[in-house]
Amino acid sequence: MPEILPVAYRSDILPEYEGTPVGRLLEYHNLGRAMGSAQTPELLIGMCMDSRKALRIPRGFAFMLRTAGADMRDNEFRISYAIAVGGVRTIVLIAHTDCGMARVARLHDRFVHGLVEHAGWDAARAERHFAESVPKFAITDEVDFVVREAERLRGLYPRITVVPLLYRVEDDLLYQIRAT
Ligand SMILES: [Zn+2]
Repeated sequence: MPEILPVAYRSDILPEYEGTPVGRLLEYHNLGRAMGSAQTPELLIGMCMDSRKALRIPRGFAFMLRTAGADMRDNEFRISYAIAVGGVRTIVLIAHTDCGMARVARLHDRFVHGLVEHAGWDAARAERHFAESVPKFAITDEVDFVVREAERLRGLYPRITVVPLLYRVEDDLLYQIRAT
């Protein structure tokens, strides 16, 4: 299991992140670093679409991609754009605790009934949608997933730094993940 490391003080920031966009993200969000506004984006942040998370970062600091579970699959063009045109050299993938994508396989009835009730779908179509999508979107562990997703992106973009982090919805803070 990867180690989860809190950032309560500047000295908690891992040496490899010090003075980098990742370190600055941790300082802005966890340590109240003064914000101002950034001239050029330093980061691409990939995180889950879950509504409980809000990052404290300056305007202009980061490109942001939000998807279910911070799964970046099928977002390659957007990522490539942020690198090639936007100029970012660092990607941060943020997992979060209590992610719906880790529970979605158990939410069959709610999913099907919800689409029928609120979106006007017929039950058979909703059933099919759920059955086809869950294997693609469900994750077993939030942290393991972003660690593996970061690995995949490093393979795709070998000169780009890709760092997984964790957002705890219980305290709204970012945590570092150290692979063990
Ligand atoms: Zn989530």
